[in-house]
Amino acid sequence: MYELFKSFLGADNVLVSEPMSKHTSFKIGGPADLFLMPETHGQLRQILTVAKEQNIPLFVMGNGSNLLVGDKGIRGAVVSLYKKMNKIVVDGEKLYAGCGALMSTVASAALSAELEGFEFASGIPGTIGGGIYMNAGAYGFELKDIVESVDYMDSEGNISQISGSDCKFGYRKSIFAEKGYIVLGCIFELKKGNKEQIRERINDFTQRRVTKQPVEKPSAGSVFKRPEGYFAGALIEGEGLKGFSIGGAQVSEKHAGFIINKGDATAKDVLDLVEHIQKTVYEKNGVKLETEIKFVGEF
Ligand SMILES: Cc1cc2nc3c(=O)[nH]c(=O)nc-3n(C[C@H](O)[C@H](O)[C@H](O)COP(=O)(O)OP(=O)(O)OC[C@H]3O[C@@H](n4cnc5c(N)ncnc54)[C@H](O)[C@@H]3O)c2cc1C
Repeated sequence: MYELFKSFLGADNVLVSEPMSKHTSFKIGGPADLFLMPETHGQLRQILTVAKEQNIPLFVMGNGSNLLVGDKGIRGAVVSLYKKMNKIVVDGEKLYAGCGALMSTVASAALSAELEGFEFASGIPGTIGGGIYMNAGAYGFELKDIVESVDYMDSEGNISQISGSDCKFGYRKSIFAEKGYIVLGCIFELKKGNKEQIRERINDFTQRRVTKQPVEKPSAGSVFKRPEGYFAGALIEGEGLKGFSIGGAQVSEKHAGFIINKGDATAKDVLDLVEHIQKTVYEKNGVKLETEIKFVGEF
């Protein structure tokens, strides 16, 4: 299998038994059988073809900032689009970004071009692909607010474009998650703005993040979706769980909506902590906390 993928991706872009802890913001996760890093749409299509022919399960990922990968790792192949296909092109008030571009890099490009509207996403540590798939959001804004259209690849390798209004964006969901489409890139519709004001907004959002979130510790961001009428962090804190640990996984002292890896956490520790939080909050408040982070692989 290795030889087959190596023949068109090159040896440097095919890793065998690759620890996923190296590719997730949680710094947790066992080995992926194969870790593939395509650089072009053609290579991505070839991966889909080979995987289908050989019956190899595929998992597509960006920066791994919303993932909990199991301790036994991932069977089949992981397709990493992180920092690949990451072109950014500005044309008037439109900004195209490839799926592998980091949202922070896109925010910097928008700032340089004096375009406003992307500031809220500057501190979200994911790629454009992961962001669009998740409809990432912060501070009252979501990517859906600024998406004009998205280019994607379906499981047959066909490339299509879909307008933002047809992407079925909702709270942390999209058509890409629903149909398993691979996001290739996105055109954002931004507005001409004032460079200093754009910079100030980015700084303000950054400051709020650094003050309120444990950004210095390995995590995958907010573990739970916001339950209607509540805040997950407040419910968890209300049950006295701030700082509560299972093994190396701990409810952040800074923000109870985050679970941090104290250094030696296993995926099992995080999973047990997630279940403990869900059970406690449900028993005391009757609120079911749904996870926002994605669980991948074998636990
Ligand atoms: C400190 C911290 C703060 C965070 N703050 C926020 C926040 O404010 N708002 C927010 O919304 N999120 C936040 N997150 C979570 C995370 O950054 C976002 O969900 C982000 O959009 C994930 O992007 P990614 O590239 O890391 O995706 P990954 O974690 O690699 O993948 C996430 C999902 O997207 C899919 N995916 C990835 N790329 C593609 C692609 N090209 N095509 C199809 N599917 C794809 C994967 O299969 C997976 O299901 C935070 C995380 C951390 C660690």
